[in-house]
Amino acid sequence: MPELPEVETTRRGIEPHIVGQQVDQLIVRQPKLRWPVPEQLSDYLKGKVIESVQRRGKYLLLNTDQGAAMYHLGMSGSLYMVSADQPPAYHDHVDLVLKNGMALRLTDPRRFGSLLWQARGEQHELLVKLGPEPLSDAFDADHLQAACAGRKVAIKQLVMNSAVVVGVGNIYANEALFAAGIHPKRAAGRISRQRIEQLVVEIKRILAAAIEQGGTTLKDFIGGDGKPGYFKQELSVYGRGGEACVRCDTPLTEIRLGQRSTVFCPNCQR
Ligand code: ZN
Repeated sequence: MPELPEVETTRRGIEPHIVGQQVDQLIVRQPKLRWPVPEQLSDYLKGKVIESVQRRGKYLLLNTDQGAAMYHLGMSGSLYMVSADQPPAYHDHVDLVLKNGMALRLTDPRRFGSLLWQARGEQHELLVKLGPEPLSDAFDADHLQAACAGRKVAIKQLVMNSAVVVGVGNIYANEALFAAGIHPKRAAGRISRQRIEQLVVEIKRILAAAIEQGGTTLKDFIGGDGKPGYFKQELSVYGRGGEACVRCDTPLTEIRLGQRSTVFCPNCQR
């Protein structure tokens, strides 16, 4: 599933190819995505200039002077640039065709992605309740401590709640909790200030490192069949249940928490 680092990498990959470009037309071959693509979207976008590409959580906003086309990649979506005359494959559901002959193509085999519209001056209802960006100064120990105060919910579930902070997906929650030495099931309200500070540091470090690694794939966003692949990351716990802890050699424990695979070291994480 595309996580925040992949979405940010996509933003950086497509940005130089679409900012300043004028939209020729929007071709919607399959409107039945997670939500239907609005029928008026083609009219809204026709002739508009893409002024900027912004990321909010896992949404990508292509801003025009009238509003923004709002993409989400869902479980299996990807966006990349093709020549507009390149024939679409079966799962190529939407092309944003530019006047310069290129197109931004949305491919999404499982169709859990979406393409919606946010009018200028308004905030789409899907964005209203989002917490701060994890790499922004607004996400700090004060913010996380306030979110944790008095809460019995497991800390892993709390940091994966997008109303608390956006973009901490399952892999990153597992890795950050290991790095901070915090047991994923620990009640959020029972973690010391010092350990909350450490967790904030680790979430930022791990996400920033993943985005950094994604930078090596930027060239894949343009050309023939150059669909961007998701980058490999060095993982300490995620996907390593039963294997030895990288710090202490204890076998890692794997459990389900909120239906998500959760791996931790029973010795290093308290
Ligand atoms: Zn360990």
